[in-house]
Amino acid sequence: MEIPNSVEKILLDEETIAARVCELANDISADYADDDGLILVGVLKGAFIFMADLARRLNVSHHVDFIALSSYNRGTANAGAVRLIMDTRTSVTGQHVLVVEDIVDTGYTLHYLLRTFHARKPASLRSCVLLSKPDRRQIEVPVDYLGFEIPDVWVVGYGLDCADRFRTLPYIGALRREVYE
Ligand code: 5GP
Repeated sequence: MEIPNSVEKILLDEETIAARVCELANDISADYADDDGLILVGVLKGAFIFMADLARRLNVSHHVDFIALSSYNRGTANAGAVRLIMDTRTSVTGQHVLVVEDIVDTGYTLHYLLRTFHARKPASLRSCVLLSKPDRRQIEVPVDYLGFEIPDVWVVGYGLDCADRFRTLPYIGALRREVYE
């Protein structure tokens, strides 16, 4: 497949991602083997491909649902504030909730999600995140299942975008700085 000019290099290729997603699914399947009522809550849009691959690798029964958020831009007075723009359709009270996110950067988004779901009294609450940029963290957040740690670069592909572009690239690539700065 042709690599767009805006992509400086491939950080994680398809095979590497698929192998790790399989490992995560095995870990999750083992941990929830005795539990009824697992709901995967995918965060749109970025987690849609990761969630689809992960869910199909699970060996435990589960439902899927989605939530959509918008975060205020870096550098504005509201930086770090997160707004819910679409909620789950099912109630999570008394269910085992696994939040599925594409990436943890500052940590504000995942912090908001975990606080929001905690208030709804699930039977348990955990997070599964494909990518983490530890150098950018502003707030500590628990990540129970993590795919990969990456450096502080803007990544696209496998669900992740830049202004809604590049989401369906099959790999995860680092954008050239001049494209996003
Ligand atoms: P946080 O609240 O942890 O700072 O940011 C989480 C959100 O920022 C992610 O869900 C994602 O939408 C976006 N984000 C952070 N870093 C990247 C990146 O490198 N690439 C893309 N496409 N989105 C990112």
